[in-house]
Amino acid sequence: MDPMFDVIIVGGGPAGLSAALILGRCRRSVLVCDAGKPRNKASHALHGYLTRDGIEPADLLRIGREQLRPYTTVHMRSDEVTEARRVDNGFEITVNNDVVSSRKLLIATGVVDELPDIEGLKPLYGQSVFHCPYCDGWELRDKPIAIYGREDQGAGLALELTGWSRDLIICTDGPATLSASDRKQLDGLNIPVREERIARLEGSDGQLDSIVFDNGDVLPRRGMFFNTGQDQRCDLAARLGCEFTDRGAVRTGEYEMTNVPGLFVAGDASRAVQLAIVAAAEGAEAAFAINKALIKEDLLLNDSDETATRSRV
Ligand SMILES: Cc1cc2nc3c(=O)[nH]c(=O)nc-3n(C[C@H](O)[C@H](O)[C@H](O)COP(=O)(O)OP(=O)(O)OC[C@H]3O[C@@H](n4cnc5c(N)ncnc54)[C@H](O)[C@@H]3O)c2cc1C
Repeated sequence: MDPMFDVIIVGGGPAGLSAALILGRCRRSVLVCDAGKPRNKASHALHGYLTRDGIEPADLLRIGREQLRPYTTVHMRSDEVTEARRVDNGFEITVNNDVVSSRKLLIATGVVDELPDIEGLKPLYGQSVFHCPYCDGWELRDKPIAIYGREDQGAGLALELTGWSRDLIICTDGPATLSASDRKQLDGLNIPVREERIARLEGSDGQLDSIVFDNGDVLPRRGMFFNTGQDQRCDLAARLGCEFTDRGAVRTGEYEMTNVPGLFVAGDASRAVQLAIVAAAEGAEAAFAINKALIKEDLLLNDSDETATRSRV
């Protein structure tokens, strides 16, 4: 392996692979390290990705890796990066006890979703229980849908879901703390709020059939959406000194640059719109800026020479 890569990319999801493709085409030496835990692993299909609508999530990644093969300067490792440090001329990472260096570092490590702690949810998650209507609302259009949101968390998601179905019920799994104006709006839209504790979800082959409450009531539903929150998949960006937004995303500026010089963060970890195609676009943007920065360094240009590297694209 090269002693010093131009770029190390941590994370081989849509964001990381897309960045690797652009950087490979720029003839950059690139190492992609991927721990193999994509956010949407449980999902039955990836929707809304132009030309790939409905593809199995693993197939998108397989095609992405295959299409990187001709770019011989791009290397892949199926390993977790456990450490990352800034050093004088770039970055050093530790991967499976090897220390590898690069001039620039791109973190594309994604996020992990907090699942509601409900018996029977896991086998249905990604099949008929989801968090994102933009990803999976179409398949549940006009169907009976539950919105899981404790206290006052379900109201916003319920209003959003009216675009897909008008047969909606909020389940707060305990006392609701909805404001009077939320209650009025939900009443006006005929969206009931069920405050009973949920005992379990019932279904088979990934298909939700019903929500069973502690009191024995059974509520037939074909789908459920929730928004219980998420965390960064790994803490490398935090340990490198990145700033975060109050929603837990890495704060990035133009072209996915962070406050740490030479460090870029793309995809869900920096959280704009959390769709795979947006993650891929962010990866490409970061790659563009990284290559531009490397050209400047190689030609010993400074910022006043900006026109020399300005691309016409
Ligand atoms: C159930 C579900 C369904 C979804 N459906 C859709 C959909 O239909 N359409 C859509 O557009 N989006 C969908 N999404 C969202 C989509 O999955 C994300 O927007 C997309 O995966 C983000 O890509 P990413 O590259 O930022 O992160 P990820 O795809 O999560 O990839 C990050 C990669 O980084 C790796 N990694 C993390 N830490 C390390 C480390 N320290 N070292 C090495 N590797 C590391 C992880 O293992 C992972 O492979 C869905 C999400 C979920 C949860």
